[in-house]
Amino acid sequence: MKIPFLDLKKLNKPYETRFKEKLESFLDSGWYILGNEVKTFESGFADYCGVKHCIGVGNGLDALTLILKAYIELGKLQKGDEVLVPANTYIASILAVLQAELVPVMVEPDLATYNINPLEIEKIQTEKTKAILAVHLYGQLADMVPINRIAEKYNLLVIEDAAQAHGATLNGKKAGNWGHAAGFSFYPGKNLGALGDAGAVTTNDPELARMLYSLRNYGSEVKYINDHIGYNSRLDEFQAGILNIKLPYADEEGAKRRAIVKRYVSEIRNPKIELPYYDFSENHVFHLFVIRTEDRTQLAAYLNEKGIGTLIHYPVPPHQQKALPQFHGLSFPISEKIHREVLSLPLNSTLTDTEVDYIIQTLNNY
Ligand SMILES: *Cc1c(COP(=O)(O)O)cnc(C)c1O
Repeated sequence: MKIPFLDLKKLNKPYETRFKEKLESFLDSGWYILGNEVKTFESGFADYCGVKHCIGVGNGLDALTLILKAYIELGKLQKGDEVLVPANTYIASILAVLQAELVPVMVEPDLATYNINPLEIEKIQTEKTKAILAVHLYGQLADMVPINRIAEKYNLLVIEDAAQAHGATLNGKKAGNWGHAAGFSFYPGKNLGALGDAGAVTTNDPELARMLYSLRNYGSEVKYINDHIGYNSRLDEFQAGILNIKLPYADEEGAKRRAIVKRYVSEIRNPKIELPYYDFSENHVFHLFVIRTEDRTQLAAYLNEKGIGTLIHYPVPPHQQKALPQFHGLSFPISEKIHREVLSLPLNSTLTDTEVDYIIQTLNNY
């Protein structure tokens, strides 16, 4: 059997007829930038997340960067302020802070959930700390109740990196509605993926929303009148059309992933493999199913030989990346252990029962 880690063409196959119709109506409309598709998606995704505002932007990195830059424009952050961010994240979270000329302060995660540890936040924060960038890594909501309690106590902004967590829900509240603002990515491989780059910010703050509508479009609210030093990072009109087709199925996608995960966590039995923590709630949409093992190279080679594709999210922690020499002296034992041991198994709605059986069996035979 041959099971690739992710087959995007197969994942998008059920939508193909509607994509083609959308391309036709897009061509007929002759409207290519910031049109009705973007407006429809912004209001649809705001409703989906349960927030007042959604601002479509070019990609997930820009979503996070623009939130921070908007807070600087609004005087709520100043260049040089410190932002707490998990040490084990995709590098985009760190880059957003750096690109806004703020200072990332890395915080160890909880080994069980892989998410930022609130106890560490409380220990590390100082009067220079002005914000927490909480990443919902692999699709599981960060520990938002204590994070928000700490943020309130020390008057910190809370920004969610929800790029992997569309639809994750705790106490009836979705990812994107837990902080002061959240950044989403609709990169093709994400749980809600476009056919190219796309992103969005969600927030309940009208002042922030207004600033973001301006910053994403040259700092301009009225054409050719520029109030801020803006950027060009607009959600593409055609990608918004694609997302409008897929958004109604987002929860179904999450439910299908969780159903497969229920089988993985109850049927994979191998002392060499550490399964991810899962409480069987909807706080996890499983963008990735990430196991840990001490002999990762060997396990990945074995699975590859059996036709099962795997990936590593992520092989090098941000503080050890060549691009970030200023952090090379730091030590984060938990993050480093995670980066050494993690391996992601195939998980998406196209997997058949037979394929899931085969993956479980193959892992149990290892
Ligand atoms: C994908 C991702 C991003 C960046 O999204 P892009 O659309 O690729 O710019 C940011 N943070 C996390 C955690 C991600 O997984």
